[in-house]
Formats: sequence, C-alpha cells, structure tokens
Amino acid sequence: MNKKFVIAIDGPAASGKSTTAKQLAKKLKYIYIDTGAMYRASGLCTMLQNVNLNDEAVLKNMLKKISIKIEYAEEGNRIYLNGEDVSERIREADITKLSSQIAVIGMVRRKMVELQRKMGKNGGVIMDGRDIGTVVFPNADFKFFMIADVRTRALRRWKEAKEKGEIIPLKEIEEELIWRDKNDSTREISPLKQAKDAIPVDTSGMTIEEQVQFIYNKIE
Ligand code: C5P
Repeated sequence: MNKKFVIAIDGPAASGKSTTAKQLAKKLKYIYIDTGAMYRASGLCTMLQNVNLNDEAVLKNMLKKISIKIEYAEEGNRIYLNGEDVSERIREADITKLSSQIAVIGMVRRKMVELQRKMGKNGGVIMDGRDIGTVVFPNADFKFFMIADVRTRALRRWKEAKEKGEIIPLKEIEEELIWRDKNDSTREISPLKQAKDAIPVDTSGMTIEEQVQFIYNKIE
C-alpha cells in the first residue's frame, strides 16, 4: 500500500476505536492521532488556568496561546499541553467529564479541527474521535463507525481500570458512558453521528484482533 490514506474512525466512548486505531497504525506504519486526547488536554488547560467556560474572551485568549503536541511512539503516544506531559492526567475521571463539557463549545471545536487538519494533511494517518468522518475529514479515504453495546463498553473500561489497580463499580462506569454519549450525540455543533459513507463496525462480540483485521481487510 503506497498511497498514504486518511483513515477516520468515529464512535462512542469505549467502542474500541483507540485500541483498534493504535494497532492498525502499527500494522500500516501510519501515525495515530487520538483527537479525544486533544479535547481532554483543552479541558485540563481550562482547569489549570481557572478559565470560566462562559467567559468567551478569556477562553478565546487561552485557545490562542494553547499548545497541544502529540509525540508519536509505538508503545503509546504522549500528549503535551503547553510543553508539559499530561498523558496520564488527562485520563482521570474529572477530565473525562470536562472534555465532553468543553467539546460543545464552537470556539474550542474550531481550534481542534484546525489543528487536526494540519496534523493529517499529508495522509498516512488514522484519526479517531467523534466528528472525523463528518467534519474534520469529510473526504477521508476510509471511514469507520465503531459501536458496541453499553455493557460491553463498560466492562472494557472496568478491566482497564482494574489492570491499573483501580476498582470502579461497573454501574458507575456505565452511567458515565451513557451520560457522555448523550452529551456528545445531542450537542448542536458536530454531534457524534455516523457519516453516511462510513462502514459500521459492531465490536460487541469481536476480539481486538478481529476488529483490526476487519478494518485492515477493507483497506487492502
Ligand atoms: O475519545 P475520548 O473519550 O478520549 O474523548 C473525550 C471527549 O472528547 C468525548 O467524550 C467528546 O466529548 C470529545 N471529543 C469530541 N470530538 C472528537 C473527539 C473527542 O467531541 N473528535
């Protein structure tokens, strides 16, 4: 495969996007861009700088100066906010919620889309998020929309947390996923939805290897 495609993977939280995208990027020798991490970093930035989300002027100023960098590495990308490595911090529960809250703001989305288009302009990228196939790269070479039932998704998050030594009640995880999906799919600007030309992938009964192979076969 010589052509450097742009591959868009969208879908709700914990549907298998990032695990699949990471492995696929390794297989294709592409760059993986986790756009959720960018919204998370923006959310963290508002917290660190005490930015009131309703104060447009202050938020605008923050976005003008913000620096979000992704360092590509096979063992997992690192994300830097204004020069500081925030890769672990942005995965914490308070930032997860804040990222979805900040993602409804037009000014924030415009800035993230601008950065994402720059990152993907030369192709050879797999980008995952909520609006990649609909807004960021509507002409992407391939678009996939991953879904899975909420119990499967919650169990995935529960296992990930357990591996890190955290025990979180399954019900709590399920409620957070439901809240976030609702917030993401009902917002006015760039809501989470399947692009008309996206290939749906229901990962509920699939292993990670099957998910990766399914998408790889389509691209090949
Ligand atoms: O993908 P992840 O769960 O890390 O994304 C965190 C939040 O960022 C999502 O719940 C969503 O609100 C927002 N997001 C978005 N558009 C994207 C990627 C993420 O609105 N392209």
